[in-house]
Amino acid sequence: MELIEEIAARLGVRAERGKRFADLTSLRVGGAIDWVITPETEEEAAAIVNELDKAGIGWRPLGSGSNVLADDGDHHYVVLNLSNMKGEVHIDGELVSVSAGYSLPRLCIDAARAGLSGIEGLGGIPGTIGGALWMNAGAYGHEIGTVTEKVRVAREGKVVEIAGDSIEWNYRHTSFREGELLLGATLRLKHDDPEQIKARMDEVKQKRLASQPHGSRSAGCFFKNPPASAIGTGKIIDEMGMKGQRRGSAVVSPVHANFIVTEGENARAEDALALAEEIRERVRREQGIELEYEVELWRAKPENTDERGSADADERGSI
Ligand SMILES: Cc1cc2nc3c(=O)[nH]c(=O)nc-3n(C[C@H](O)[C@H](O)[C@H](O)COP(=O)(O)OP(=O)(O)OC[C@H]3O[C@@H](n4cnc5c(N)ncnc54)[C@H](O)[C@@H]3O)c2cc1C
Repeated sequence: MELIEEIAARLGVRAERGKRFADLTSLRVGGAIDWVITPETEEEAAAIVNELDKAGIGWRPLGSGSNVLADDGDHHYVVLNLSNMKGEVHIDGELVSVSAGYSLPRLCIDAARAGLSGIEGLGGIPGTIGGALWMNAGAYGHEIGTVTEKVRVAREGKVVEIAGDSIEWNYRHTSFREGELLLGATLRLKHDDPEQIKARMDEVKQKRLASQPHGSRSAGCFFKNPPASAIGTGKIIDEMGMKGQRRGSAVVSPVHANFIVTEGENARAEDALALAEEIRERVRREQGIELEYEVELWRAKPENTDERGSADADERGSI
């Protein structure tokens, strides 16, 4: 029995071989993963990463994979799949405690039903609470960091709580340290009329429906908006006439130019990357703007990385 298998069996956690990133990410591309370990509770997740760290085995946390573009090679590390670590939502007055694997859209609905306001703008962001916390997900004037009172993290095999205001919450970026495993959070929301909260959620949903592709395989906005530009990245790419541009199995969405969508059963990450680099190159040449990736690029071989991708993505995890 391999060491990873032995650790997982000892802790009663599922460990699988034969999975691909194409099975685990919303872009539906990406190569084979050595091992996928799927804890179901915060305690299990804390214990497993402690054991992996002690054994010197590299691992990387993954939520719903809706902000990750993993390349087509073989990824020789453990993916900690947190999408089953859902737990139960606990509501105590205006405080809402939830595990990192819980769905963010689901939590937004729960909060609205309970008459709690503060995250209704986040309702259409796919993914888990952990993924949202990691990159301070946000939309339509709401960001998760603004309402995060406490975060539970894994430290030496234990679940430890840290204060939300000890974290820097920036535009799609936080100060969580590399290799930090987020286990759950307590959010502080505000009582409001459930009907009004629902109305605001519906409004945001309509805006998304009108401006973003649906039923397509994407990772949301591929690039961040440039800080010094008056117009957003989608508009910049659109004005260059790149909507509908294709590289093999990857296409610039005709609906929203900052979305790259993949098509076909054997879609390739390299097509999406090549298209993304073509966009960056043109924006650099024609607008003098250096686009920064919002999507995280996960490489099979981090030691051979080039300049592509955010520092977060390349330095992430204990690989
Ligand atoms: C159609 C569409 C629309 C989108 N719209 C928006 C939007 O409006 N605003 C926005 O902000 N994003 C948007 N996104 C991007 C994405 O949904 C968010 O970034 C989301 O928060 C990612 O959550 P996830 O669980 O899928 O994370 P993943 O993609 O699985 O992971 C993202 C990062 O978080 C890390 N991570 C995940 N869980 C944990 C954990 N428990 N502990 C430590 N690290 C962890 C991963 O290692 C990775 O670095 C959109 C995506 C799609 C497909």
